[in-house]
Amino acid sequence: MTGKAISPEQGNRKFLAKIEAMDIDVSACFQCGRCSAGCPVTEFFDLTTMEVVRMAAYGMEEVLINSKTIWLCAACETCATRCPNEIDIAVLMDVLRELAIRKGVAPSEPGIELFHRSFLGSIRHWGRAYEVGLIAGYKLRSGDLTSDMKLGWQMFSKRKLKLLPHPIKGKDQIRNIFSGKGKEYER
Ligand code: SF4
Ligand code: SF4
Repeated sequence: MTGKAISPEQGNRKFLAKIEAMDIDVSACFQCGRCSAGCPVTEFFDLTTMEVVRMAAYGMEEVLINSKTIWLCAACETCATRCPNEIDIAVLMDVLRELAIRKGVAPSEPGIELFHRSFLGSIRHWGRAYEVGLIAGYKLRSGDLTSDMKLGWQMFSKRKLKLLPHPIKGKDQIRNIFSGKGKEYER
């Protein structure tokens, strides 16, 4: 446990409604800890998964969207698989990241947020991940131009990185997915 105080917050029905709309029943959590015990990156979190779920049930949106945990979660779904109440914590993390961005909260882990943006930009543009473009986008956004050069060269020399993109046929459908769903929550 992180030792952070957990207490119910009043008047945050909008936040709870957003979670409920995603079919995440945080109220079902009985704090067994199976999710936290199985998380492969829990040692780097500032809030454990079981704390995230309990805080979400209490409507503690501000604490959650300012946490490092929501950005460090690798979306591996181990927690959701282990939860006896089938609470999809990985999706909850996704919702929290989305809320942080929509509310203009500066990410606690800016590099990860920039990587997400670069990845999604690649999907939006090409319909699938185009690794070289993704890396270039991340490097330009972050200003971190020189790190991982050796690794990049190794991947390129083993033909793991394709220089040219391979767009898919259904790019319009992919763009529709990016057309603004979720704006109802903006405030
Ligand atoms: S495994 Fe499920 S029920 Fe147990 S603490 Fe985690 S979220 Fe709660
Ligand atoms: S989805 Fe995230 S929180 Fe859940 S086990 Fe994986 S890294 Fe941990």
